[in-house]
Amino acid sequence: MKIGVLALQGAVAEHIKLIEKAGGQGVIIKRTEQLDEIDGIIIPGGESTTIGKLMRTYHFIDALQSFSAKGKPIFGTCAGLIVIAKEIAGQSEAHLQLMDIKVARNAFGRQRESFETDLVVKGIADDVRAVFIRAPLIESVGDGVEVLSTYRDQIVAARQGHLLAASFHPELTDDERMHAYFLDMVRETR
Ligand code: GLN
Repeated sequence: MKIGVLALQGAVAEHIKLIEKAGGQGVIIKRTEQLDEIDGIIIPGGESTTIGKLMRTYHFIDALQSFSAKGKPIFGTCAGLIVIAKEIAGQSEAHLQLMDIKVARNAFGRQRESFETDLVVKGIADDVRAVFIRAPLIESVGDGVEVLSTYRDQIVAARQGHLLAASFHPELTDDERMHAYFLDMVRETR
């Protein structure tokens, strides 16, 4: 199974490493033509405004919307979660507008800019290692979105069919179980 990592900005190499640890083949994606070669894609953490701008410049908005329309799985982590959301609190325009979630950016406040914890993630385990860095929160979810994890009563991971989103960085740990879960989603759709 070939899993792409969108490589416009952000934590790319770390995702490739965990995709391979979970048994997939990681592909660095820089051009839209490459989307035909892959079975699923991860949009990494970084800075969502920058990733969004680069996606517009390199024509990834339409390309990823049709990738999604074919039912091919997309996993957004941290900034990537913001990029796939239908709605961003306080911003008039969202990016890919694929997943029926409303997100709040930088939602943990200054004193909790970054931290690490173990999370209960439905369908995976009750001790998934998660790194939060200026992380977004999922404020609300639409029908058909399943909440997979919460941290102090706030939603930090969710799934809607072939779309998966996490507020944290699973790739900055050596815990590959989130990636293995995504690989299972890709396997289901093939
Ligand atoms: N705060 C960033 C944003 O709003 C996301 C941070 C991250 O990906 N670690 O885009």
